[in-house]
Amino acid sequence: MFVENQSIHLPLLTKNEVSLHIKREDRIHPLISGNKYRKLKYNLINAKEKGFDTLLTFGGAYSNHIAATAYAGKVHGFGTIGIIRGEELDEKWKLNPTLKLAQEHGMQFKFVSRDTYRNKNSDFFQGQLENEFGSYYLLPEGGTNTWAIKGCEEILTIGDDDFDVLCCAVGTGGTLAGISNAARTHQQILGFPALKGDFLQEDIRKFTRRENWILQTKYHFGGYAKVSKTLVDFVNDFYRHTQILLDPIYTGKMMFGLLDMVQNKYFEPGTKILAIHTGGLQGVKGMNQWLKQKNWPLITTYD
Ligand SMILES: *Cc1c(COP(=O)(O)O)cnc(C)c1O
Repeated sequence: MFVENQSIHLPLLTKNEVSLHIKREDRIHPLISGNKYRKLKYNLINAKEKGFDTLLTFGGAYSNHIAATAYAGKVHGFGTIGIIRGEELDEKWKLNPTLKLAQEHGMQFKFVSRDTYRNKNSDFFQGQLENEFGSYYLLPEGGTNTWAIKGCEEILTIGDDDFDVLCCAVGTGGTLAGISNAARTHQQILGFPALKGDFLQEDIRKFTRRENWILQTKYHFGGYAKVSKTLVDFVNDFYRHTQILLDPIYTGKMMFGLLDMVQNKYFEPGTKILAIHTGGLQGVKGMNQWLKQKNWPLITTYD
């Protein structure tokens, strides 16, 4: 799959003499956007080879991975089951745009308490799921496993050899690990975690042995799926200047962090940066519902 690198022009970049391109993985598909497509690709091939007809996975109510799995399952002939965090959603999931669309794509839900969700990988819970649903191909939360990393290694292509610095948003770290594995020896990778926590380093080391990456841990905006008015304004300003929409949960935080580092002269003049737009735009609708309730400015959308 060929994905274009788009050149970004901003006064801040010119002033600091760094160049920035964005790899438009968000354009792969509106629902299986970016890295979730990459992570599913080899898992679906593997599931089919092993004769599975059902995929089961986990996620929060606005999860890009849930949206992608539901759609990919439908297209590739799998039944899909989503184990969703939050019992309370059982009543009102139809109000949630991510879950509503996933259901329209054939996904069946099981809503579980936060406690149960935390223990989702226990043998006990997995046994319960097998009793309830029969045999299934298990995709972990966020889709990250060895097959997913293999898919993410395909994000970089030969044309990307020229870049000095590669940037991506980090959730589970699977995408970063794939990029780390595929990068050239002269390239440095910056990961921008969208959540707080020290567990990430270790998780990433399970999937890459290279030391070519570092995490910029200052730009999580309070934690996973937390946003501020500053971040919303930033995403809207970035759109106004570039016509590129970022999602507030991952790519917005990455780009905010990256431009903050440019401003702070982290990069030497002449540095060529490639930032990966990992997608996630399906989640903007849900986020806007929440922003509206709070009477905050909304995130601009393409339509
Ligand atoms: C899931 C997701 C990420 C994080 O990917 P990981 O491989 O879990 O680190 C980044 N950006 C977007 C848009 C995502 O949906």
